[in-house]
Parts: sequence; C-alpha cells; structure tokens
Amino acid sequence: MTAVLVVGTRNVKKRQEILEILADLPLEVRDLTAYPEAPEVHEDGDTFEANARKKAVELATHLNHWVLGEDSGLVVPALKGRPGVYSARYAGVQGDDAGNNRKLLAELAPLPDDSRGAYYVCCAALADPQGQVLAVIEGRCHGVILREARGTGGFGYDPLFEIPEYHQTFGELSARVKHALSHRGRALAQLHPIIRRLLATTGME
Ligand code: IMP
Repeated sequence: MTAVLVVGTRNVKKRQEILEILADLPLEVRDLTAYPEAPEVHEDGDTFEANARKKAVELATHLNHWVLGEDSGLVVPALKGRPGVYSARYAGVQGDDAGNNRKLLAELAPLPDDSRGAYYVCCAALADPQGQVLAVIEGRCHGVILREARGTGGFGYDPLFEIPEYHQTFGELSARVKHALSHRGRALAQLHPIIRRLLATTGME
C-alpha cells in the first residue's frame, strides 16, 4: 500500500510548490481538495510554529492521515516584523495578494532604502494520524523589498521580493531556482530525511 501524506493547505500555488518539492519521495502527496469536508483551521496563533502545529494536529485527527501543516509569511524587521503571521490577510482580505503588496509598498515608502531588508519564513509540522507532532522544521530566505513589482511567477509578495545575489525577484526566477533558495524549499529539504526514515521504520500507515 502506498503511504499517503496530506498537505494541509487550500492555497493552490503553495500546494503546487510543496507537491513539486516533495515529488521524489515514495509516497502519495494529497492536498485538501481531496477532502472537501476537512475543517477550516483558524490560524489564530502568534507564531508560524503555533499555526503550523495547529493545522497538522486538527487535520490529522479529523482525516486520520499523516498531515503536513505549513504556515509561512514575510517578515520585515523595519516594520516591527509585519506582515508576519498576518501575511495572507495583511490588507484585510484573506489571499488578496495585490492589496497586500500595495499595503507593504505604502508602509515602506517613507523609509530609507536600507530599511527594505526582509525574509520569508516557512514552518512545517508533521503529525501522524493520531495527531501526534513528530517533527517541526523551519526555513528562512532573505531578500529585499523592491519599490516596484517585477515578474509574474510565484505568488503573494514574490514580485516584490528580490534575491540580491541574483538581482531577480521570486516573480522572475524559475520555479526550480525558487525551490532551491526559498524558505519552503529549505524547510522541506530538512523534512526529506525525516520522512524517509519514517517510511522505512513505520511505513507511514
Ligand atoms: P498562510 O497560508 O497562512 O501560510 O499564508 C501564507 C502567506 O504568506 C501567503 O498568502 C503570502 O502572502 C505569504 N507567503 C508565504 N510564502 C510565500 C512565498 O513563497 N511567496 C510569496 N508569498 C508568500
């Protein structure tokens, strides 16, 4: 029987990235579109880790499957950490990427150029079908927020987020390069050997 891992997100772009990054593992990765009855998890934690754990535990116990709960966002130290855990609804409406980007640009506009450093954070928690969290990992990716969007790839804040070494934003870089550098790619790279070990020892059934 093939082991199943459910990725606890309804964000289509994020889901796609996670599926691509985990593609080489010998397990069937599903997302929440396979489970329309899955509960909506309220992301009311103060930290990425609290939200990732909450998604993993609530969904695993409800679905009786292994679940990867993921919470991510953008942190701008000059904005006291905003948008942070509120990244998806920064401008007020959940998932309004254009509004979120406008708000970020407006908040940064009066600040000097050296205030535009930022980093993405991805926290992922792996829960077994009983809702026990067996691993929590975090990945970060540092960059700079531009004054104008560039590129159409990625999602969310990507067209504003430049990797200085490449002089390109995550909206411009290929998916392959983004996965190699990104917070999500780095977090899931740490999870790979953990999942492989669990497959070998428990079969993840
Ligand atoms: P979550 O679904 O609550 O984890 O919210 C994630 C939000 O953080 C997204 O809606 C984006 O606004 C932002 N975010 C997280 N990861 C990325 C990324 O890789 N690119 C761009 N924005 C991201």
